[in-house]
Parts: sequence; C-alpha cells; structure tokens
Amino acid sequence: MKKEFAVIGLGRFGGSICNELAEQGMQVMAIDINEERVNKFAAVASHAVCADTTDEKVLKSLGIRNFDHVIVAIGDDIQASILTTLMLKELGVKKVSAKAQNDYHEKVLRKIGADHVVHPERDMGKRIAHNMVSNNVLDY
Ligand code: ATP
Repeated sequence: MKKEFAVIGLGRFGGSICNELAEQGMQVMAIDINEERVNKFAAVASHAVCADTTDEKVLKSLGIRNFDHVIVAIGDDIQASILTTLMLKELGVKKVSAKAQNDYHEKVLRKIGADHVVHPERDMGKRIAHNMVSNNVLDY
C-alpha cells in the first residue's frame, strides 16, 4: 500500500516537499491556513485543504491520525509549529517531521516528540561544506 503523507505549511520548504512527494507518485494532503497557498497546490496534491492546524478539532476532522507521515513546515509562527506538532503526536500520528527555525525551537520540537527535526538552512550549509571538502580531497 502507498504511504500517505500530509504537509502542513506550504511555503518554499513545505511546498517543495509537497511537489516532490507528488512527483514521486505519493498520496499527499496539502494543508495551509492561507487560501491562496492552498489553491496553488490544488492541482498537485491529492487533497488541498485550507485549515488552521492549531485547532485540535480541525486536525481530528481531517483524520490526521490515519496518515503515515506528517510534515510540519510552519516556520515563523513558532507557537503554531509547536502546538501543531504536539497535537499530532497526542492524536497518535506515527511519524512527524518538523522544521525548526532555530536551536531553541529544535529543542522544544524534540522534547514534545517530533520524530525528525530539520533545520533547512543549517543542514544545507553543512552538506554543501562537506561536499566542498570532499571535492577538494578528490581534486588533490
Ligand atoms: P518558507 O520559509 O518555507 O518559504 P514562509 O517564510 O513562507 O515559509 P512560514 O512562516 O515558514 O512561511 O510558514 C509556512 C506556511 O505555514 C505559510 O504558508 C503559512 O500560511 C502556514 N501556516 C502558518 N500558520 C499556520 C497554521 N496555524 N495552520 C496552517 N498553516 C499555517
């Protein structure tokens, strides 16, 4: 059976995850509080929904606990990111990945049970630096 994903927050980060999952043929529900952003993903995702994910009733009505993997890609509104992640874990979502805005945010996300925390700018910087070093090693 195909894995079912939900992406919450359709900015550059969440949007690109959503596009890539759909491209790979996965079932993906795209969720954002901003209707314009939701409309942009209506043709890409299996379902695109306008919703505030800090509302537990909303998360329940979306049947979020039945998804295999939920990605919380809300960045700037740290409170919304934390509250959403906490409720996803409380509702029993097996795998939750969340985007952290800074080290404190990351620490809280881990404490409340996020299974995987990404720090896109920092992680990408690390990866690029590693590639530069290994390319240098090969060059000499
Ligand atoms: P990126 O850095 O990925 O480009 P961004 O800077 O556009 O993102 P962020 O603040 O990181 O914006 O938020 C990402 C998305 O999360 C936005 O599209 C925003 O509308 C959405 N979002 C914020 N709060 C909520 C919420 N409570 N429920 C659902 N979506 C939300």
